[in-house]
Amino acid sequence: MKTLFSKIIDRELNANIIYEDESVIVIKDIHPKAPIHWLIIPKIPIPTFQDLQKEHFGYLLAMTEVIQKLAKEHSLEKGYRLVVNNGPDAGQSVFHLHIHLLAQRAHNHDF
Ligand code: 5GP
Repeated sequence: MKTLFSKIIDRELNANIIYEDESVIVIKDIHPKAPIHWLIIPKIPIPTFQDLQKEHFGYLLAMTEVIQKLAKEHSLEKGYRLVVNNGPDAGQSVFHLHIHLLAQRAHNHDF
């Protein structure tokens, strides 16, 4: 079965798309926890961070480059948080790897 994010990638569901290329899509989180709350999603349905294998590292590199590029374009270089919830005990709810990018909020976060 397709993941929620695969349905967004395939335009079966709507999302507010910030950026897209052949290997990565970036969307606004539907329930933002900060003024900027984006999800950086690889266009391959790796379920969790723990499932990452060597052959996926091209996607991880692409996600890194997209984050750096968007941070520069949106003047966020001085501060943004990246969060990956890995597995149900960490509160992961969508089992398609994604990195949360949060910005423009005071950094007194509780982990
Ligand atoms: P997780 O809890 O798996 O780390 O993060 C999943 C995130 O996806 C949550 O922050 C949640 O708000 C977001 N989300 C869930 N459903 C949708 C949706 O349909 N569209 C968008 N844009 N975000 C979603």
